[in-house]
Amino acid sequence: TVVLPEKNVDGLKPNETRATCCYCGVGCGVLVQTEAGRVVGVRGDPAHPANFGRLCTKGSTLHLTARPALQEQARALYPELRLARGDARERAEWDITLDYLASRFASTIREHGPDSVGFYLSGQLLTEDYYVFNKLAKGLIGTNNVDTNSRLCMSSAVAGYKQTLGADAPPPCYEDIDHAEVIFIVGSNTAYAHPIVYRRIEDARKANPDLKIIVADPRRTDTAREADLFLPILPGTDVALFNGMLHICLWEDLIDQAYIDAHTEGFAELKATVRDYTPKFVAETCGIREEDLIQAARWFGASQASLSMYCQGLNQSAAGTAKNAALINLHLATHQIGKPGAGPFSLTGQPNAMGGREVGGLATMLSAHRDLDNPQHRAEIAALWGVADVPARPGKSAVEMFEAVRTGEIKLIWIVCTNPAQSMPEQKLIREALERAELVVVQDAYRTTATCDYADVLLPATTWSEKEGTVTNSERRITRVRAAVPQPAQTRHDWQIAIDFARRLEEKLASEVNHASTLFPYETTEQVWNEHRESTRGRDLDITGLSYAILESQGPQQWPFPQGAAGGRKRLYEDGIFPTASGRARFVNTRYQPVAERVDARFPFHLTTGRLRDQWHGMSRTGTVAQLFSHASEPALVMAQTDVERRLLKEGDLVHVTSKHGSQILPVAIGDDMRTGQAFIGMHWGEEYVSGRGHEGKGSHGVNALTSPVFDPVSKQPELKHAAVKILKA
Ligand code: SF4
Repeated sequence: TVVLPEKNVDGLKPNETRATCCYCGVGCGVLVQTEAGRVVGVRGDPAHPANFGRLCTKGSTLHLTARPALQEQARALYPELRLARGDARERAEWDITLDYLASRFASTIREHGPDSVGFYLSGQLLTEDYYVFNKLAKGLIGTNNVDTNSRLCMSSAVAGYKQTLGADAPPPCYEDIDHAEVIFIVGSNTAYAHPIVYRRIEDARKANPDLKIIVADPRRTDTAREADLFLPILPGTDVALFNGMLHICLWEDLIDQAYIDAHTEGFAELKATVRDYTPKFVAETCGIREEDLIQAARWFGASQASLSMYCQGLNQSAAGTAKNAALINLHLATHQIGKPGAGPFSLTGQPNAMGGREVGGLATMLSAHRDLDNPQHRAEIAALWGVADVPARPGKSAVEMFEAVRTGEIKLIWIVCTNPAQSMPEQKLIREALERAELVVVQDAYRTTATCDYADVLLPATTWSEKEGTVTNSERRITRVRAAVPQPAQTRHDWQIAIDFARRLEEKLASEVNHASTLFPYETTEQVWNEHRESTRGRDLDITGLSYAILESQGPQQWPFPQGAAGGRKRLYEDGIFPTASGRARFVNTRYQPVAERVDARFPFHLTTGRLRDQWHGMSRTGTVAQLFSHASEPALVMAQTDVERRLLKEGDLVHVTSKHGSQILPVAIGDDMRTGQAFIGMHWGEEYVSGRGHEGKGSHGVNALTSPVFDPVSKQPELKHAAVKILKA
């Protein structure tokens, strides 16, 4: 049962409960309005510092995703189980289902070792959910095979921050938008993907007409249209752009040598490298005008406060870490960091990708920004958890994990709140993996996702408005999320499912694991939260002072917030000291590498992918709201008019879009945002759509039928943003 929060406090109407929007990393506060245990409306929370009462089209229709009719049609409401492939799943009791899972996991772990199982989580989970699953894998089972769809979203930002600044911590805050003189938006259609942040940029411009906005993006998006300077760079050329801007800053004495000398290391090597990135070379490489490149460098370097904001255009790349590091290099060299209105600001894709990173819910990291390969870090977490050790060998990251499932190295896979059968690259391999797995467990609020088709066990979870815990948004701000309505039917909270399973597995593995008592003694999310807080003691993200009580009384807070602090820290590195061994930030010697798949005579088009304004991820939630289709009613291949005409096509014609990985049939749309030689597909549709133009997507597997599984060697984030394709009339 859910303990419903006290009503009529802190300015709330009697039927309102404070929560957050469950879509993007802006982390807007919402007030959930209920009647008779049902969600009937939402409004933006005027007291929340991320949105001050505003909501975008997605957030303002959240209540429509909780309608009773939808609950019956789309929700997973009861556990389902099948004992053999080919059988239909049947409704089962929780106890029977969890006992079965504990037996299967115990016998597989005994026979094949802890790395024969894997967990694939989601940036949609709350921090407490994430914490318990991470501890289950690393603490109880002894495997680092716990990764998440945040790998597809933010892992290059993580790696870029760690390489340069020493810790995975976005230095700026939303308030810096108000102080910036230059905002440099790269690889982000902020107006669509982070609309409430974009509203704040618009407000800042109204307040300061001198504010300069530079946008670098292969497409002239709605964000780019509003820019003072638009750099239509060719896909994947970001490192060349940033190195070129640094070259110009060096040439025109726009760097801050005193700051470089006092607070950084490694500049000499980078300086030698960027000597080759002349304006002519960079302009040709990026496909932009030399004078625009020079103007961008001058604005960025000469301003008192330059803020960059970036997202998947940098992250979803085989060179994602280098792109992030090259941009941060530029900030460090020009001292555009650690002061109001300045800094490299990665915009988080998912609502709680940050929370997942904080608890270490990735195959390559440990709790509270600790490193797997650091014996001291492992010992600290083992002591906190009361286990002998946590494994040092990295687990499988997202792409590697499904490949290991496909080859039989991982035999049992547990997927929580995400839809890899749509969202992972090279879909045919992912689906092959799910078919070959010995056991697929899917824990989700919805039973309509493509991944559910492969589930041997379906565990029904609670979702937005039904669960409580905490989330962290892009500016390191933690918000307490409360349940507004009771959980439906037999659903359980994600953290509770993990605990119910973990305690059973502990019993089955009693002879192997040497614990006097359970590792999972929690009865409430607050107990989980408190253990997580303790894990951060002395770390860069120390939140030992941030109790549920403070979040209740003082509202959402930024980390760090150590014990005894009066408040969280708005902006990082204002003292010029960085969390590296030397206390200095590190320049990374970044060099430009082309996209993993170059266009050629057989695959002559650059395909890029991205968000549309009113949809979210694979549409399991937004796809249930009719009005969210008014902006784009079906998927399309968007091309430049000249390319459409040259191929003797017209708008609406069906075409085969084919890469080295797969093919898809889509109608053509002409977009004035497109450059010649490039095409774009929105990422949201999988195979479950029927077009008004007489075709359906069945069997197409969506845009990720076309994308490549090649990933960045450091962050292991795949290049979901780009594929080389050919386009032929269907
Ligand atoms: Fe939700 Fe993001 Fe829109 Fe805010 S900007 S309402 S968090 S989707």
